[in-house]
Amino acid sequence: MAKTPITVAYGDGIGPEIMQATLDIILAAGAEIDIEVIEIGEKVYLRGLSAGIEESAWDSLRRTKVFLKAPITTPQGSGYKSLNVTTRKTLGLYANVRPCVSYHPYVNTKHPDMDVVIVRENEEDLYAGIEHRQTSEVYQCLKIISRPGCEKIVRYAFEYAKNNGRKKVTCFTKDNIMKMTDGLFHQVFDEIGAEYPEIEQEHWIVDIGAAKLADTPNAFDVIVMPNLYGDILSDVAAQITGSVGLAGSANIGASCAMFEAIHGSAPRRAGQNLANPSGLLLGAVMMLNHIGQGGIATKVHNAWLKTLEDGIHTYDVYKEGESKVKVSTSDFAKAVIERIGQKPGKLKAADYPKESKKIDIKITNRPRYKKDLVGVDVFLNWDGEANVIGPKIEACGTAQLRLVVVSNRGVKVYPNGHAETFCTDHWRCRFEQPNGQSITHNDILELLSNVQKAGLDFIKTENLCNFDGQRGYTLAQGQ
Ligand code: NAD
Repeated sequence: MAKTPITVAYGDGIGPEIMQATLDIILAAGAEIDIEVIEIGEKVYLRGLSAGIEESAWDSLRRTKVFLKAPITTPQGSGYKSLNVTTRKTLGLYANVRPCVSYHPYVNTKHPDMDVVIVRENEEDLYAGIEHRQTSEVYQCLKIISRPGCEKIVRYAFEYAKNNGRKKVTCFTKDNIMKMTDGLFHQVFDEIGAEYPEIEQEHWIVDIGAAKLADTPNAFDVIVMPNLYGDILSDVAAQITGSVGLAGSANIGASCAMFEAIHGSAPRRAGQNLANPSGLLLGAVMMLNHIGQGGIATKVHNAWLKTLEDGIHTYDVYKEGESKVKVSTSDFAKAVIERIGQKPGKLKAADYPKESKKIDIKITNRPRYKKDLVGVDVFLNWDGEANVIGPKIEACGTAQLRLVVVSNRGVKVYPNGHAETFCTDHWRCRFEQPNGQSITHNDILELLSNVQKAGLDFIKTENLCNFDGQRGYTLAQGQ
């Protein structure tokens, strides 16, 4: 078999120890890989590169398209960008996949039958990093959800379920509140789900869904979520299997993929040969499947399961009376290597397909809608009362743009506001064309010119549009 080139980063903290253990195991199992090592993380940050990665490292990643990455330490303080976010975005790794499995009775857990895969959207949502301070009191972070972004991740989740013999895909959103952004994610889930009638599908509001996941995880199989919920709940899911130290994850893109443990660099454990390499090893198992070495992945996974069953445990999993031996990182690796070729007795053995089934997601249908500009929200920075700003901004209206409502943090405060509503220094003033007809950018400029002449501090505007006649904005609470 020709060797597959992969890029490896040993990372920081416990990274080098667990990477060495992982590579020793997969090479002993016969992985056909050509390793290119790159340096990322703390040392690179401290050399003054705020992204934590050298330009030359990107060349290796673009060449191999496969990245096995140990955890890194992000230095405290502003000015350092998260390398994980940079890598995911730069390489277009849109899907984060985390299998969360319990290994009862060998690893303590309240959920002995748990076997859930979290598929998290990786590029959008509140993680777009577009944040502003707009007034003395108010900050905002934009939540960006796109139709292609939703389609890619939702289709990936269904394809993953199909390829891995999974029976159900569940979607978590908060679309009862975020009707447009999370609403789109849910809508795309329903649309794409209709193409997979053989797979059971359901939607939960994320809050009660999260509660159910923490309480009864075996009610779920594959769960697909927008970025923020997925970030939080994939850690919860991994933790309730018994330990975050045991889970690996894959970050998948159209051409590149990155594999890692879900835990961090555990700096306090660094250099002691104590850390559990299992999370990174299971990340490497996903990598072997990805590069078409499923037979080796099966061998490694089963040898690892047998080691757990034999009670050979690192300190984080070790339990007096139940475990047999407490071992170091390198002795754990040796124990796994000794068991290559063996299968677990009680735990469910792995049996991966020999060939990898690449999930190829193409966005073909990108409809363009007829967009009509029908109004504008003007945001003001103003220190004062609603009944003062209301008439002042209303007087700025033009023949084409009349004030409809003023809201503060989304709640209507003028006209006919309630004295009890707490107001900050951030006001959203909605202007619409009185007969619902289209306006032009010039109409907005005329309005803004009046706002400026009135001495009001406008901090931004947001256009109000209809798309094929459907309202493209939500109403203010109370509007
Ligand atoms: P952490 O995951 O490193 O550690 C949390 C706890 O789990 C610690 O008690 C640690 O000792 C233990 N632990 C983690 N991995 C273990 C393992 N393999 N074996 C045994 N015990 C293990 O989280 P943290 O302390 O919040 O973060 C430390 C650093 O890691 C930070 O700089 C953070 O930015 C970084 N981090 C990196 C990644 C990544 O590179 N993917 C992810 C998360 C955090």
